Amino acid sequence: MKAVLDHVGIAVSDLPASLAFFRDVLGLHVESTEEVASQHVRATFVSTGQSSLEMLEATAASSPIAKFLEKRGPGMHHVALRVDDIDAAIQHLKARGVRLIDEKARPGAEGALVAFIHPSAAQGVLVELKQPAPKVEMFRTVGRHTLGDLELITLADGFFALDGGSMFGTVPRTLWEKRLPPDDANRIPLSMRPLIVRSDRHTMIIDAGCGDKMDAKSAQIYKFDRRYHLDHALAEAGVAAEDIDIALASHLHWDHVGGFTKIGQNGAIVPRFPKARYVAHRAEWEDATHPHERSRASYFQQDFVPLMDAGVLTLVDDGAEIIPGVKYRRSGGHCAHHQVVMIEAGGKTAVFTADMYPTSVHVPDPWLMGYDLYPMDTLAFKRRFAPEAVERNYLLFFEHDPSMAAGYLREKDGKRFVERVI
Ligand SMILES: [Zn+2]
Ligand SMILES: [Zn+2]
Repeated sequence: MKAVLDHVGIAVSDLPASLAFFRDVLGLHVESTEEVASQHVRATFVSTGQSSLEMLEATAASSPIAKFLEKRGPGMHHVALRVDDIDAAIQHLKARGVRLIDEKARPGAEGALVAFIHPSAAQGVLVELKQPAPKVEMFRTVGRHTLGDLELITLADGFFALDGGSMFGTVPRTLWEKRLPPDDANRIPLSMRPLIVRSDRHTMIIDAGCGDKMDAKSAQIYKFDRRYHLDHALAEAGVAAEDIDIALASHLHWDHVGGFTKIGQNGAIVPRFPKARYVAHRAEWEDATHPHERSRASYFQQDFVPLMDAGVLTLVDDGAEIIPGVKYRRSGGHCAHHQVVMIEAGGKTAVFTADMYPTSVHVPDPWLMGYDLYPMDTLAFKRRFAPEAVERNYLLFFEHDPSMAAGYLREKDGKRFVERVI
């Protein structure tokens, strides 16, 4: 049996106080906090390089952590060993008569499978076996592509997570979970990846991520990981906020245009790109400023109303040409006036697909998001768009795909797949 030290679990009675020690006094990196409902615990990992410390706090009196604290007080609770195949490890131990707490692996934090060995079999130490969730290799930086005389630069505003079921509508979890493994709260990782389109006359940004205006509660619900965000990406790409002369919105949801504004001096919300003209769709603006019960959670007025107040927002209609070669094309579906952005130069075409193909996993026509307001319209658009994208060799940009920024849609033996480019 091969195993490496994954983490040391520490039972704590006051999670914020213990994090304050490990983060502020020792200077270690604290990761996001996760509830493990099945165990009635709240777990926070503190990174120590190859392995980590896991702070465990009870969320109910019936929690094993509550019982541990009652008996022994705060302190070391368990040692976790990482294995490649937890079922094989359990069989290995059973065959040697080792006393186990779990005869079968069960779900643990961060989508891992876990099983515990009884302390009586391990010199008084509670030992956890852990098989980590298959890793989604996150693409967290800048990618470049040349299209005719245009330069395309894909940026990143970090990651967030949304309910996997909502992201795939009627598609069963058994079909999507291998492609985008969910965490213990059933959330899948998603990127926010704006696109720079640069010509000799313009530097345009399409969408701008969620920005910095989110409160702590949203940060927890959406599991924001913005250690690397738009400012880092712009710096890495060599683009200054002042260089951007046009900021274009695919639609006005917070994960696309939150980054169009920022909190300025004295707390006022101001345009993020000081020299940019901002462009949005006229009917989408109407919908965004008159949300209903179903759309209200997606539209934050503070993301776009300050742009109108500052006199920097231009509203345009379907098919509008934003700069030479770059046009809106209405897909509808996700919201009534959702736009993909067609980018043409030198006889080639790239498409910023926004929430029409939120990830490359969404390319099968019926794989539609539960978030779509008009899913049958998304389906109708995809049926028209996909054969066109295959035939004309469109380079597709996937704004929310955690690991692939862009690729070509290919078809072979009646099956569609994406060939990664960035
Ligand atoms: Zn959206
Ligand atoms: Zn989105």
